[in-house]
Amino acid sequence: MRFATRYRCSSRAFVSCTRGEGTPRRRKCSTCGAALLIEQGAHGIYVWRGDGRYPARDAVQLFTSATVADQFASDHLADGYVVRWISSEDVPAALPRSEKPPVSKAHQLSADSWRVIGHLYDPSLINPGSRRRDPSMQVICKTQDVTRDAVVDVVERGLVRARLGLGGDDAPLEAVRRLPDSAIRLRITKAGMYHASHDPTHLVMCALRRGELSLFTLLRGLANPVGFGELCELADRRLFDTYLLGTDAEIPIRQVRDLSSFAYARQTAVGRAYAANR
Ligand SMILES: [Zn+2]
Repeated sequence: MRFATRYRCSSRAFVSCTRGEGTPRRRKCSTCGAALLIEQGAHGIYVWRGDGRYPARDAVQLFTSATVADQFASDHLADGYVVRWISSEDVPAALPRSEKPPVSKAHQLSADSWRVIGHLYDPSLINPGSRRRDPSMQVICKTQDVTRDAVVDVVERGLVRARLGLGGDDAPLEAVRRLPDSAIRLRITKAGMYHASHDPTHLVMCALRRGELSLFTLLRGLANPVGFGELCELADRRLFDTYLLGTDAEIPIRQVRDLSSFAYARQTAVGRAYAANR
């Protein structure tokens, strides 16, 4: 197969060190002057996994263009695909593929990661104000009581875009990990909005943040449909409890399957952890 070519600064001392696709015009980094490393390989499509290990044999598909690979990943958001580099010596292990590996559901986000996303985008408000523009990582870590790891997680998954300063360049993951948190600005991506507005946990926890709602409203009134089975799953995880309407009498959710307007849901402390603080 034809290989993809990419280049990057061998020292990588600065965030602005040279990197790019194809053959470089100069042989030296335009920031620090170190020699450029030119690599051949492929852009592999993988199902995202939390541990960062992407052996070549797990690649679902290979591309020679990073742009096309990114496009493919964002066209299949529901599959949780990400793009990772495969060096040329590992490419044979990724080929040939007679069948694709089973595609797992996108890995579930932690409560901390959901608070980061929920602060940036609230799918239950159908207006432009539901999307926050470019708060700094410092503000998010403070208001949402999260560590930097939670932010790195959602940036690595492509759900949030990190930039250096207001309107600045995209921040590489290393910068998100290491630079002062006031320098990093965050914004929800299209993938992030898709994920947030299709994930039952996020939809229901965002809706319940403002108060109790009947199960009927949760089943019919959210930005995207949530099924009764999914509500049961959330109740089993103790993200909300269900009560008979007009009372404080708790009732198991499965008993009100056909009576969804006679029961309401109230977020638990665990559930509140999945919704942004404000
Ligand atoms: Zn450099």
